[in-house]
Amino acid sequence: MNKNPYEVLGVARDASESDIKKAYHKLVMKYHPDRNPDNKDAEEKFKEVNNAFDILKDPQKRAAYDRFGDAAFAGGNGAGAGFGGGNPFGNGAFHFNMGGGAGMEDILREAMRGFGFGDFGGGRAAPQRGGRDLLDEVVIDLKDAYFGKTHTVKFSSNVECEKCHGNGTFDGKAAPVCPRCGGSGFVQTRQGFFAMESPCPDCNGLGHKIEKKCTECDGRGTVHKHRTLDVKIPAGIDDGARLRLAGQGEAGSNGGPAGDFYLDIHIRPDKRFERAGDNLVMRVDVPFTTLALGGEIDVETIDDKKLSVKVPAGTQVGEKLRVRGHGMPTRRGGFGDLYIDVAIKIPTKLTEKQKKLLNDFAGTKSEKKGWF
Ligand SMILES: [Zn+2]
Ligand SMILES: [Zn+2]
Repeated sequence: MNKNPYEVLGVARDASESDIKKAYHKLVMKYHPDRNPDNKDAEEKFKEVNNAFDILKDPQKRAAYDRFGDAAFAGGNGAGAGFGGGNPFGNGAFHFNMGGGAGMEDILREAMRGFGFGDFGGGRAAPQRGGRDLLDEVVIDLKDAYFGKTHTVKFSSNVECEKCHGNGTFDGKAAPVCPRCGGSGFVQTRQGFFAMESPCPDCNGLGHKIEKKCTECDGRGTVHKHRTLDVKIPAGIDDGARLRLAGQGEAGSNGGPAGDFYLDIHIRPDKRFERAGDNLVMRVDVPFTTLALGGEIDVETIDDKKLSVKVPAGTQVGEKLRVRGHGMPTRRGGFGDLYIDVAIKIPTKLTEKQKKLLNDFAGTKSEKKGWF
């Protein structure tokens, strides 16, 4: 759960955009990793501050947060509603990743952008915008987790315009640097004592001026496209794992890097097997005669193999019989074990002969004072 972004930045609910920016800049300077080497707390704070700013700097996201709170970003149906159609998937199960999986580098990039720098290199480069990360989730069967599978995701997102290679120009070449802002995308205006930075009105903050726009993308450099992504889910994957497909998120603008695509894996509970790390546990009813006398039982493994398992004489209910190598695939390329959780089924219909035999057996018990 994200923290309340207003609290994180220490601003009021009705704080102005510039107040939010100021608070953010102050905190980001304070917790910047360069100033706090090897300080985990500062790193955590730095991330929180960036997550909070990510929400509050964007009027749409801020409004969504104000209306729906965390639910606007936590996935489910709230997301689509909050973004007013910004949800690229449309079925409500998808949502934008709000920094949960973003690496430090992405956050740093975001922080630098917040300062109005285009790049790490300094103020001259055109302000690039990294593409948004996308997050999807899927529920798979335990058997899929055992074998691994390819999951196909269909969605639509912004991708780089092929016609102009993302430049937004008619001829597809990089647009010339904007003369007014010199490529920074920002101009400084003075209001009395204060120097204010605002997006360059000539190039709308892009840093370069497109004379003739690309007809395909209307100068944006990106187009909205239906996409299909085949995500390989590796065998042995854990419930709650998050797969990352670098560069498969939304396209960046102005030559900025594409975001990443994340897939969260959930594993549906299985009727027969319970997972315990790399091991599997299976409850099996064993005839009480087999438990008492010893014998063999047939079980079916998760990969549909028939297996004969030895039951030692005197096995108790609740004991676990270990069958090596029939658990889940492990990271090291091996397999966990299968544990048979011994249960019992008492017969409800006995023949006269069986009844007599059991009665005889019970009689033996009382005569000899117990048979354990
Ligand atoms: Zn400009
Ligand atoms: Zn184009």
